[in-house]
Amino acid sequence: MKLKDKIAVVTGGTRGIGKAIVQTLAQQGAQVLFTYVNNDAKARELESSLGKENLKVSGFKVDVKDFNQVNAFKEQILDKYGAVDILVNNAGIIRDKALALMSSEEWSDVIDTNLTGVFNVTKCFAVTFMKQRQGNIINISSLSGIIGIPRQTNYSASKGGMIAFSKALAKEVAAFNVRVNVVAPGFITTDMTSVLKEDYIKHVMPQIPLARFGTAEEVASVVLFLATEQSDYITGQVIRVDGGLGM
Ligand code: NDP
Repeated sequence: MKLKDKIAVVTGGTRGIGKAIVQTLAQQGAQVLFTYVNNDAKARELESSLGKENLKVSGFKVDVKDFNQVNAFKEQILDKYGAVDILVNNAGIIRDKALALMSSEEWSDVIDTNLTGVFNVTKCFAVTFMKQRQGNIINISSLSGIIGIPRQTNYSASKGGMIAFSKALAKEVAAFNVRVNVVAPGFITTDMTSVLKEDYIKHVMPQIPLARFGTAEEVASVVLFLATEQSDYITGQVIRVDGGLGM
């Protein structure tokens, strides 16, 4: 097992990519503490289904937008486990709309969750990692933050911001033996992409060299690589998992 006795925090673990990350890290022996914001039922279901496989997984209702909630969550974890080894910032939302029609609320919901949320969670745990002289941060951005996608100015800005944030932080904390990397998925089959209209999928599909959407597990396996010693000399990088779409 590649992550035996490691403690991992995953934000947004109840569904989609986050859920696959929780499962993958736990299967490699990590104690995984995941967060969510609404879905109590799904959180309990995940704890119970993975618990039956003797995997160590617990869910916590923590809104990443709220610094105080995140800080209290961190204190709770440190009291119980004494240390944290891996942080995966995965929680994210979309509120797609053309800029001309986008409300200030749709802008700030996305920025507050996807970018300020990453600041809130990373600030809390980075200090712990620096004190430990050891830690590993993996941020789930998006191809949208690299190439820009129309009707996603809010989302592209948040995900591009996350990449810049990660590179700056990677330089800041490398001396403390803390790594920071980014995974940038393209189109992945989850609840988030289930809202895409048939016409839009027909438009996008020919642009994906591998000619299909990816799976949450395909993103999780790259996160696993970044979470293990196999990637010990990699920091400040953005790894695309996009079927070649962004080439
Ligand atoms: P889903 O919509 O399937 O799941 C989102 C998860 O984030 C849920 O667990 C949700 O919790 C949680 N969440 C949302 N807001 C908050 C919040 N304020 N605080 C804490 N948790 C929150 O998303 P995906 O699995 O598709 O996406 C996961 C990440 O990957 C996102 O950052 C997304 O931007 C990124 N991504 C996704 C792509 C895709 O094609 N699917 C492509 C590129 C990037 P709850 O269940 O309680 O609502």
